[in-house]
Amino acid sequence: MDTNEFREAAKAAIDQIADYHESIPSRRVVSDVQPGYLRPLLPASPPLDPEPFADIQADIHSKIMPGITHWASPGFMAFFPCSSSYPAAIAEMWSGAFNGAHFNWICSPAVTELETVVLDWLAQALGLPECFLSGGETHGGGVIHGSASEAVLTVMVAARDKFLAAKTAHMPDGEAKEDETWRLRSRLVALGSAGAHSSTKKAAQVLGVRFATVPVSEEHGFAMQGAALAKTLDELAAKGLEPFYLTATLGSTDVCAVDDFPGIVEALSRRAGTPDDVWVHVDAAYAGSALLLDENKPLAKPVAHFHSFNFNPHKWMLTTFDCSAVWVRSRAHLITALSIKPPYLRNQFSDSELVTDYRDWQIPLGRRFRSLKLWVVLRAYGVRGLQAHVHEGVELGEKLEAKIREREDLFTVFTPARFALVTLRVGGVGEEQINARTEELYEAINAGGQFYLTSTVVDGKFAIRVCTGVAALREEHVQKLFDLLVEGAQKMVKGQAGIKGARGQLSDYAQAT
Ligand SMILES: *Cc1c(COP(=O)(O)O)cnc(C)c1O
Repeated sequence: MDTNEFREAAKAAIDQIADYHESIPSRRVVSDVQPGYLRPLLPASPPLDPEPFADIQADIHSKIMPGITHWASPGFMAFFPCSSSYPAAIAEMWSGAFNGAHFNWICSPAVTELETVVLDWLAQALGLPECFLSGGETHGGGVIHGSASEAVLTVMVAARDKFLAAKTAHMPDGEAKEDETWRLRSRLVALGSAGAHSSTKKAAQVLGVRFATVPVSEEHGFAMQGAALAKTLDELAAKGLEPFYLTATLGSTDVCAVDDFPGIVEALSRRAGTPDDVWVHVDAAYAGSALLLDENKPLAKPVAHFHSFNFNPHKWMLTTFDCSAVWVRSRAHLITALSIKPPYLRNQFSDSELVTDYRDWQIPLGRRFRSLKLWVVLRAYGVRGLQAHVHEGVELGEKLEAKIREREDLFTVFTPARFALVTLRVGGVGEEQINARTEELYEAINAGGQFYLTSTVVDGKFAIRVCTGVAALREEHVQKLFDLLVEGAQKMVKGQAGIKGARGQLSDYAQAT
């Protein structure tokens, strides 16, 4: 493809993408292809000779499109939003055009410098404490990773090495210190609440450290409490184990619970500033975007006591996947844990300490120019535009909750609307019937194809999650979903549907819909 062919093909692609976007509301949300659909549609081996680009573009429509689930659809109320936006899409084109591996400052100075500036901007927009700014007193700062899971693993490495260094600081270098370090390694425990995202457990698995769960209860809205944390810490200490890391969650995946940050600070206060200091990472992957709203700013205050914070602008902040913003209070811990300087990576700038080499803040060496899309999104919407987007999602969630509460004959609100997430259950007699009905209704709605919802099971209770953060979502869509929920629940409650309750099996009701 030469430059002129590129102009033509790329312009055609833009028109097709714009048409696709306009067509999304009329499409089925979730792809309904069967597993393995694609292989028979494609040749068994790659083409030996170049193919006309028009043929490739045509196959995107005929072969790929059927296997796409439309995350931008107003009927997408599953998981969490992962909304693209036109400004972010254009920035992605530029990022692709400047393509490089960008591991050192000199690999493209703008890539590093824009990231530092934009993450300082974003920290201000969220109201994060000063200590997370690149110019703050504690020498913190932000970096963009690909995902929250990567962020958790990366800060857990820094936490581990910081802990081991502090616990052995009193010993002179030598074999005895090394032996003690390895002994301590076998006693390390990473902690997260029962509501923490699975990425904390996975990170512990990757690092080869133990993982312990702090219990949560419905009484406290499934948020981790200081007292429960203190109890777990005592139990671990009694076993001679060494807690070194904790994930505190702002907006849990199941129900958007916010852990009790002041209680956590209190529970850890005895250890703070001692060699037993526990690194606290705040995982706000989804709900972090809600800190853009002034009413949520107080939630960020206690984060000043913690060590790191992360949220995904690629979830609710109109920035294309992948973009996970991570801040640390002290960048030295990351760099100490992750810096490796083989001769081929040395250069006059990196050796001078004048520049940031973000490769030392992450696991991979190479990195994408992700800050470009964040910069473009922040400018194209402005903080006010982003606030309006987040606010709309929050409001729609509250409206849905109000509608559900008006039909207490059919539903119960399991957890109230928070950060554009409501969870609900169908009414019934006894947990078994409630679970069966709720699961039945959930499967029926998804089978209909107009909406895509996800569910969760907390403490043995099956609940439907409805997330109202997708950019295209309007009140009419919420009303339509609510009407379907009512219609389905009414049939069940009146006993008109053949309720089988078998997981994964469609009911008579679902097939009739
Ligand atoms: C989505 C989510 C994650 C996982 O995010 P990835 O970026 O896909 O790793 C982790 N924690 C919370 C609270 C989330 O909402």
